[in-house]
Amino acid sequence: MHLVSRRHFLAGLAAPAVVSQLGRAQGDSTTRRLTILHTNDIHARFSPSREGVGGLAYLATAIKQERTRAAHSLYLDAGDFVQGSPVSSLYEGVPVYEVMNLLEPDAVAMGNHEFDYGWQRVYDYLAYAQYPLFCANLVNQQGLLFTPPPYLIRDLNGVRIAIIALMTPRLPELTYASNLGPWRVLPLAETLRHYIQVARERDGAQMFIALTHIFPAEEAALLHEVPEAHLIISGHDHGGMREILRDGNRMVVRTRPFTAELGRIELQFDTASQRVTEIDWARIPVNTSDFQPDPVVDREVQKWEARVSAVVDGEIGEAIKAYNRTEMRDVVERSVKETLGTDFVFINRGAVRSGLSVGKIHAREIWDALPFGNRIVIGRIAGSRLPQSILRGASVEPDKLYSVATLDYVAANQREIETEGLEFPEAGPFVRELMIEWVEKRRVVD
Ligand SMILES: [Zn+2]
Repeated sequence: MHLVSRRHFLAGLAAPAVVSQLGRAQGDSTTRRLTILHTNDIHARFSPSREGVGGLAYLATAIKQERTRAAHSLYLDAGDFVQGSPVSSLYEGVPVYEVMNLLEPDAVAMGNHEFDYGWQRVYDYLAYAQYPLFCANLVNQQGLLFTPPPYLIRDLNGVRIAIIALMTPRLPELTYASNLGPWRVLPLAETLRHYIQVARERDGAQMFIALTHIFPAEEAALLHEVPEAHLIISGHDHGGMREILRDGNRMVVRTRPFTAELGRIELQFDTASQRVTEIDWARIPVNTSDFQPDPVVDREVQKWEARVSAVVDGEIGEAIKAYNRTEMRDVVERSVKETLGTDFVFINRGAVRSGLSVGKIHAREIWDALPFGNRIVIGRIAGSRLPQSILRGASVEPDKLYSVATLDYVAANQREIETEGLEFPEAGPFVRELMIEWVEKRRVVD
C-alpha cells in the first residue's frame, strides 16, 4: 500500500475542471520525467564491425552521454551477452560479463544464449557481474528460481519502478537439454501479472517494466494480455523493430543486435494516475564515426582482443567474391560435403551468423560466421525418410540408405528439418574447425 497524496485525494472529490486548474497551479507536481536506456543481444561484440558499427567502448560512450543528458535514467539490457565473437567462444562468455561492469547496467535479463556453455557456467557470470542478472520465470521442479531475484525495485525521480525479467517459454527449442539441466520456464503473462501484484503490494511499486528475452509474437501477446505492465523492453529477435508496437502510451521496444544501437525511452509518468502520459522512443546508432571510444572500456577490449588475436588473425585463404549470410550457409555446406563426402548436408540458417567479404580470409571471419561450438553428426537414413528440407528437390530411392551430415543442434532438435526421430549416431569434427581447414587446404573460395 502506498500513501494517497493530498492531491490524489482531492482529485477524487473535485469536479474535473477544478482538478485541471489545481494541477496547473502546482506545476503538474505528480508528473515525473524518466529516461530508460536499453540494449539487447550484445553477443560479445567487443570491437566494432568492419563497417564501423558498434563495439563496447563506443556503446559505453553513447550510454555515458545519454546518462549525462538525462536527469534521471536507467540502463537495462534484455539478454544474450554471450556468443558471437572469438573472445566469447574461447573464454565461454565470461569476459563479456566482466567488461560490461564498466558500462554499469542497472539490470540485465537472462537470454537463451546465456545457456550456451551449460547452465553451470551462468554461476560464473553471476560471480563476475557487479549488476543484477536475473529472471522471474526460470525455475527448477521445486519452483526455486535459477537467477533470483524475480524483480528489482529502482527509485527514479520519485517513481518506484519494478523491473521484472522474463525468458521465452520456447527456451527448450533454443538450447540442448543438457545445457538447460533442471531449469524450466514458467508462462509469461501469468508470471508477469503475479510479480506485478507482489511488487505493488510488498514494495509499493508504481511503474512496471517487463525486461524480456522473447519472440516478437510473445511481445505482442504480453502487451495485450498484461495491461498493468507500462513498458516491455525486449530482446532476442535480431531484426530490430520494423514497426512500433504500441498500445496508447504503452510500448514494446527492442534495438538492433551486436551493439549497433542504443535505445532511449523518454517518458512522463504520472504518479497520481500511475500512468505514462507521454512517451518518446529513439534509437541512437552506435557508429564509430559519431563517438570516441571510452578509454577505460577500450583498454579492456584491447586486452581481450590481443589474447585471441594469436588464435584467430592468421590468414587462411582468399575469397574471390563476397558472400552474404545466406550464401555463406551454402559455402559451409559445401565445405562439409567436400570434406566428409556425405550424400547430403544440412546446416541450419541460425548457425551461420555472417558472410564473407571479398579478399583475404582469416580464421576470425570463420569464427564470426560460425560462433557456436557445434559439432557435425552423421546418420545413414533411408531415402523414404528424408525430408524436403534435406533433399531440396533431389530424387532418391526410397529403400536406399543415404549418409547425411548435420549439426548436433539440428539432430537434437529436429524442428529445423521438420521431422523427428532421425538418428545421427556418428560424431564428426566441429564445424568451425572443419571449415577453417577446408579454406586452408583450397586457399581460394569461389
Ligand atoms: Zn536470444
